[in-house]
Amino acid sequence: MRLLVVEDDTLLGDGVRAGLSQQGYAVDWVEHAEAAQLALETGEYDLLILDLGLPGMSGLEFLTRLRETGEDLPVLILTARDAVSDRITGLDSGADDYLTKPFELEELGARIRALLRRRSGRASPIIRHGDLVMDPAAHEVTLRGEPVDISPREFAILQMLLENRGKVMSRNRLEGGLYSWNAEVESNTVEVHIHHLRRKLGVELIRTIRGVGYIIDKPREE
Ligand code: CA
Repeated sequence: MRLLVVEDDTLLGDGVRAGLSQQGYAVDWVEHAEAAQLALETGEYDLLILDLGLPGMSGLEFLTRLRETGEDLPVLILTARDAVSDRITGLDSGADDYLTKPFELEELGARIRALLRRRSGRASPIIRHGDLVMDPAAHEVTLRGEPVDISPREFAILQMLLENRGKVMSRNRLEGGLYSWNAEVESNTVEVHIHHLRRKLGVELIRTIRGVGYIIDKPREE
């Protein structure tokens, strides 16, 4: 999953980027709305974390413009503790959730998980697919009740495919969910991670759509 953070406080921005990267997200961090605009035009993101007090275009103005263009990306706003009216205006302008500063990274992580599961139409914190169960909060996968040992990158790819069941995910899209701008791209390609996932979870789970990408089919109606 790839997140965009817009925060002009360098200490906080860098801390959020580092903390969320540790939680397994690919995180890009920019310091003002204009840079965020450019990032959204050039990359695909799963969620936006937006500070409201930004130099230049304010976070609220940016959010309003974003929703006017029909962008439905989940947005979590960051506001000052005493700025109740900002939070109200923010939510009414199209934000999905908010956090007041200062906050704990654990809480930010939990709110992100909640927003992402709502985005994929899921209310349960657990993703089930046949005998396969994924717990994004605990970063655990089990198959027929047995824990499966999978790497963080394999976990990220599997989660993107499961959250988008029935949709073909291109190799670029999957790779974008693994690496932020400044991350060193490993020699291990998406293909290699898919190969490992198939070895661990069975060859039928992930289908290759030649020349397009990969898909996990929606489970059959019971
Ligand atoms: Ca600020």
